[in-house]
Amino acid sequence: MYIIIDRLVKPLLFLAALLMLTISASFADHHQTSPSFAEVQVTSNILMLQGKGGNLALLSGDQGLVLVDDDYQEMSAALTDVIVGKGGLDKLTYIINTHWHGDHTQGNLALGDHATIVAHDNVRTRLLSAQEVKLFNMKSEPYPEQALPSVTYKKSLSLHINDEHVELIHLANGHTDGDSVVFFRKANVVHMGDHFFNGTFPFVDVGTGGNVFTLTDNIAKVLGLIDEKTKLIPGHGPLADKQDLQDFHTMLVATSSTVKIMAEKGKSLEQIQAAGLGAQWNSWAKFFSEEVWISIIHSSL
Ligand SMILES: [Zn+2]
Repeated sequence: MYIIIDRLVKPLLFLAALLMLTISASFADHHQTSPSFAEVQVTSNILMLQGKGGNLALLSGDQGLVLVDDDYQEMSAALTDVIVGKGGLDKLTYIINTHWHGDHTQGNLALGDHATIVAHDNVRTRLLSAQEVKLFNMKSEPYPEQALPSVTYKKSLSLHINDEHVELIHLANGHTDGDSVVFFRKANVVHMGDHFFNGTFPFVDVGTGGNVFTLTDNIAKVLGLIDEKTKLIPGHGPLADKQDLQDFHTMLVATSSTVKIMAEKGKSLEQIQAAGLGAQWNSWAKFFSEEVWISIIHSSL
């Protein structure tokens, strides 16, 4: 009798436990309606913020706050909370946009009134008119004046604040046509923008001036400007170091040359996708599939 009950009760208990788990999981989901940022302390005065879109950097100090990228519009309330916690919107001095994409610039709409927005010339030009990323069917409307970069530059620009030298360097035709890589010279920290997706095949926006082969050359340039102690904030993915960027570069060189060689032999995009890049790159298909990555390389040829 005991055995029969045990056989009945155990599965029932298991079902009950499963039900409780399901209920508590959906309860948790229900309460996750207000998004927030995960904070990674990079140095004593630089934070990496991870929300829904691209990674952000926040430099704090007596003279004010410098924000690199500002995520999607839906994250603006959470971002405002972070800034209030660091001294308030009055302390926000500069916002740097590493490129025009909405997951890095939509926060301009809420925060643009409080800070000077700085970016490459081409970011302002693109945000002045409607833009589109065909691969994701993503459309963006022209930004209003207060959400546009008011300080723009062509090759490089330096900001001096909080005893820090913040240097923006334009790397041409990488992820887009208006990318900035942001060097915090004294802290030895670099915000890479979307030139760097850490540990995953990247998106390269060929439709707005990006190119996989130029991006690869640009990464080689950055590798020559940093050292083993440099901390790298990628556009997407976890905080990185020089070795991670080196690995990314190795992947870029190998996969792009594989596609190039096959295309030169007369293979079509579909044939290259069917042949694949080789099993050693399987673990890089985190954000984008190998198929999508091959099509991005192919469109860069
Ligand atoms: Zn991007």
